[in-house]
Amino acid sequence: MPRICNLSPTYPFNFEINRSKRKSLAIHVKSGKVEIRAPRYASTKWIHEFVFDQKSWIIDELARQKRHHRQRLIIADGREISFMGKPRTIVVLVSHQKEVRVTRDFVFLYIRKNTPENLEKMFNNWLKDKAREYMGVETYKIARQLGVHHKLKDIVFRKTKTKWGHCCQDGTIQFNWLSMMAPREVINYLIVHECSHLRHMDHSKKFWNTVASVCPNYQELRHWLAENGHRFWSGV
Ligand SMILES: [Zn+2]
Repeated sequence: MPRICNLSPTYPFNFEINRSKRKSLAIHVKSGKVEIRAPRYASTKWIHEFVFDQKSWIIDELARQKRHHRQRLIIADGREISFMGKPRTIVVLVSHQKEVRVTRDFVFLYIRKNTPENLEKMFNNWLKDKAREYMGVETYKIARQLGVHHKLKDIVFRKTKTKWGHCCQDGTIQFNWLSMMAPREVINYLIVHECSHLRHMDHSKKFWNTVASVCPNYQELRHWLAENGHRFWSGV
């Protein structure tokens, strides 16, 4: 008697199968949804075996994304934010005068109209100013230390979706002002990283040696960013 093969084993998640011209199977996990991309003629058995093989990875990935979503940056009264690595609680106060004031444990946001958009805008403008003050000065210092200050054209601040920093061919260095939430050592590493690109426009061994000449523990700081960076983003 042939054994009856159950083609629908139960999983602790639902998944959608999307078939296309592709040749192999792939998993995409995003916003709590699991999608299996499969070749047009892939058998159901093959797909289920694949999902079964990847089951624990999918479960871990769903949990990781959920945790990151919970920990994402939200500017609101009572929420915790970090400024140069130090966690502080946000206090929102309605006032005629717009102002941001920082004490040891709190960030006071004095605002005319308490709406999520206004808070977001006010906080970002303030953080951008702080980034200009700190990172602007430090970047020139590090560029000078590396002897590449003549190549530094400009420093600009942008809230990009995926990058902390970027160095353009023309010598313009771009930083994401959200990096000001990270510890000072991590911010300094980002500065050293971008300034080192003024010497080497790649991620070659020579480039990393340049980074290490100013920032010997850069690997540890990169690791910190990979583990914690998501806390400074508003999205997932
Ligand atoms: Zn780089």
